[in-house]
Amino acid sequence: MRASLLIVIAVLVLAIFIVYGLFVLLRSIFAFFAERKDVRQNQQLSAEYTERRRQRDKELAKRLENGCEHDFVDPMRIFPPGVCVHCGLAEKRPAGKCDHVWRRDPGGAPASRCEKCGEQFGSSAWS
Ligand SMILES: [Zn+2]
Ligand SMILES: [Zn+2]
Repeated sequence: MRASLLIVIAVLVLAIFIVYGLFVLLRSIFAFFAERKDVRQNQQLSAEYTERRRQRDKELAKRLENGCEHDFVDPMRIFPPGVCVHCGLAEKRPAGKCDHVWRRDPGGAPASRCEKCGEQFGSSAWS
């Protein structure tokens, strides 16, 4: 009687070990596949991101290709920061609707105005 009880307990313990082992194995298999999927998704995402970025860089480069030898340093502060002193185009496209093209305001004050939308820069500080 006692011997058979021991055998039952031994079998139960063994069964628990086997189930646990299977569980661990399945979990690691799932983790492995989930990780692979993640990696693939990440690769896809980063590829899309790189492509978008390249596209944007190309558009940005094209935007500045107007035959002007840009000079974005404006010691006179006539134009907003980062604007080419020759053609009035900003080095980085401004966040608003208008891709401003700055022209120097006629008159003595170091001020400028966008020829497309009329936005002013600098003159308010001097008038
Ligand atoms: Zn320029
Ligand atoms: Zn403008």
